[in-house]
Amino acid sequence: MRMVVLPGDGIGPEITKATTHVLKAASEHFQLGVTVEEHPVGHESLKKFGTTVQPGLLETVRSADGLILGPTATFDFKDEQNGEINPSKYFRKNLDLFANVRPARTYPGLRNPLGDFDLVVVRENTEGFYADRNMEQGNGEILVTSDVVISLRRITRLCCERIAKSACQLAMRRKKHLTIVHKANVLKIGDGMFLDICRETAKGFPGLVVDDILVDAMMAHVVRNPARFDVIVSTNMFGDILSDLTAELSGSLGLGGSLNVGVSHAMAQAAHGSAPDIAGRDVANPFSLILSMALLLTWHGERIGAPRFAEAARAVEGAVASAIETGRATTDVGGKLGTAATGQAVVEILTSASSH
Ligand code: ATP
Repeated sequence: MRMVVLPGDGIGPEITKATTHVLKAASEHFQLGVTVEEHPVGHESLKKFGTTVQPGLLETVRSADGLILGPTATFDFKDEQNGEINPSKYFRKNLDLFANVRPARTYPGLRNPLGDFDLVVVRENTEGFYADRNMEQGNGEILVTSDVVISLRRITRLCCERIAKSACQLAMRRKKHLTIVHKANVLKIGDGMFLDICRETAKGFPGLVVDDILVDAMMAHVVRNPARFDVIVSTNMFGDILSDLTAELSGSLGLGGSLNVGVSHAMAQAAHGSAPDIAGRDVANPFSLILSMALLLTWHGERIGAPRFAEAARAVEGAVASAIETGRATTDVGGKLGTAATGQAVVEILTSASSH
């Protein structure tokens, strides 16, 4: 497996290094034959090459088997004409990674006042309120006068259908329960179409239990009783916000792993951003990106029909759970270790497991 790794900004390089360390150990332990090649993106690339994403990087990524993207300083990159491209948007759009799969679960040993839960938010990733990616040319945010802004939200039948299908398929492999989160009472046409298509698609999956909740009410429901949810599907921005909440409810935003999936490409990416407030201090939790990398291994294994990738991914997830339970983790999840030492702890747990 040829893996491209792009460390990114803020805490990106630190959590990416820990993730690569775990990836290499998993590859060796499970004989996955993973090779890793690293390229700069974000500020480092802007400084060196005058652009946050070098020309040619897209082809490099396209020809690889998987991509690990560290968090980047999205907020800093405003002027595309001057090379300030948002790398996250760039790869999601150009590789058509339409589904953002964001699992959130509780862990033994990590205090959780809400009780145990295990859910996945499946978020549409290519349109919606993301003004920088929902237009063929230009941007969906328009400054009409200095006091008036219009932000356009795009919803298409195709994107609704494919995200609905992905969510239904995932739910069928889990507890067969799909919750559609929307705001069809206000966004009657756009979210109305999204809701109708999700319901219609779900009819093709016998045994799948489907319900739907308005996004504002969902904030209360998911905090009150997260255990009642299995797979949750939503449009882009609602899914983004909801999945940060579910990651934090699971114990820390630093546990929020995610996979961006298209038809023939996938990108592992932490659910959180570059957290500049804690960057360079060896305190960031690397589990988000390590768990994202595990999702990518599973995806690749399914794609090429090699079950050992899923086996390695399960072992990585188990090692993370064990590191949390034994306190060999960063402070945000109750441990005392730094970022690098936490990665090392996962490697030690992973490689000390006698059988695979
Ligand atoms: P960006 O502008 O790149 O989105 P941000 O700081 O605004 O960055 P996040 O990076 O999502 O937003 O982080 C919000 C807060 O959560 C951070 O300020 C940080 O304190 C905390 N946080 C995020 N990721 C982690 C992590 N991996 N480990 C520990 N704390 C984290």
